Amino acid sequence: MSPFYPLSDRARHSPPTTTEPYAWLASSLETIHQANWYRSVQPLDSLPGCIVQSQGQSWINFASNDYLGLAGDPRLIAAAIAATRAWGTGSTGSRLLTGHRPLHRQLEEAIAQLKQTEDALVFSSGYLANLGAIAAVVGKRDLILSDRYNHSSLKNGAILSGATIQEYQHLDLADLTLQLQQHRQHYRRCLIVTDSVFSMDGDVCPLPQLLDLATEYNSMLLIDEAHATGVFGESGAGCAEYFNCTGKPMIQVGTLSKALGSLGGYVAGSAPLIDFLRNRAPSWIYTTALTPADTAAALAAVEICRREPQRRQQLWQNVAQFKHLLATQLPQAVLLPSDSPILCLQLANPAQALQVGHLLKQAGIFAPAIRPPTVTTSRIRISLMATHTSEQLQQLVDALQSMEIYS
Ligand SMILES: *Cc1c(COP(=O)(O)O)cnc(C)c1O
Repeated sequence: MSPFYPLSDRARHSPPTTTEPYAWLASSLETIHQANWYRSVQPLDSLPGCIVQSQGQSWINFASNDYLGLAGDPRLIAAAIAATRAWGTGSTGSRLLTGHRPLHRQLEEAIAQLKQTEDALVFSSGYLANLGAIAAVVGKRDLILSDRYNHSSLKNGAILSGATIQEYQHLDLADLTLQLQQHRQHYRRCLIVTDSVFSMDGDVCPLPQLLDLATEYNSMLLIDEAHATGVFGESGAGCAEYFNCTGKPMIQVGTLSKALGSLGGYVAGSAPLIDFLRNRAPSWIYTTALTPADTAAALAAVEICRREPQRRQQLWQNVAQFKHLLATQLPQAVLLPSDSPILCLQLANPAQALQVGHLLKQAGIFAPAIRPPTVTTSRIRISLMATHTSEQLQQLVDALQSMEIYS
């Protein structure tokens, strides 16, 4: 009755040990090490913030996506605890089965209100929101035009959709136009896909022009506002608000896990779009709903984001101050083009980026080296928060100034 073959029989059928099927893992890891591409995790043992504890030491943190300093805010923590008491730790199922709570709907209404869209849908992460939205709105007969520097979740959403994918040069409207002229007519639907703020570079997409092109070529536009929500626009609604494009037809995706300090993602747009996604987005239908704690924390954050614009103002003041310090005290430093709180110091190669990251660590500063294959140019990525002090910004510049490569 055993489903297994007797051992001797199995041994006779197994391939020789020289082609052991997992042996490639060790040699692939070796290759990764040799290219200086190896990554590992670093545990933090404190509340999130611009000072964090790790390995028994304090660090100034320039690596967080918590732009407004909300992830450790007592109001978000209290909301998460209250929701857990009321609704439990897990949501126990898909939104369409046992997972839906009134809290989810409240959050979706708050996001739609912030974004000034007809409706919104909350996903369990920003990554899943992108996979779900893209794969739902286009398929095999359709075309996706994608900025070359788009986030992994946009690229993988495009692959998952089965649509034909054409990448255009980063932020290059001429190249995008050319590709629309060449390819658009051969496909049923077309979706232009872009980060609004590019996560590894900090530059910003030309949204009004992209919207014009989308209209001209009868195409949809999806923007990923992951690094813009809470940060850009008068009320923190993102680049759509910043560029005065609120209300224009487009698909806005974003995350609850960066400036909003929680976990989860969303799509905001027209009522038919959201209704369609509830019926056709597998990464929403076939996954467990966001936990009550995450949902409540995000809801509290959306409120704070609207009510406390001073956080955003302080963040932008820090951006201006840091750029000024670099320009006046470290003019040798090459900053990649950026219009956001993400600022990157360009470095010659992965080894140099690792070295600068290492020296910053020795100075008690956490700002990671970002290397290929994540990006093509090695760099130190600095993300600023509203809660960084002038002294902390100066400490970062001082630490860089003392390095050989900047002397
Ligand atoms: C972080 C990020 C995501 C993914 O969001 P999560 O909520 O962390 O899954 C998607 N797009 C961009 C541009 C991001 O930076």
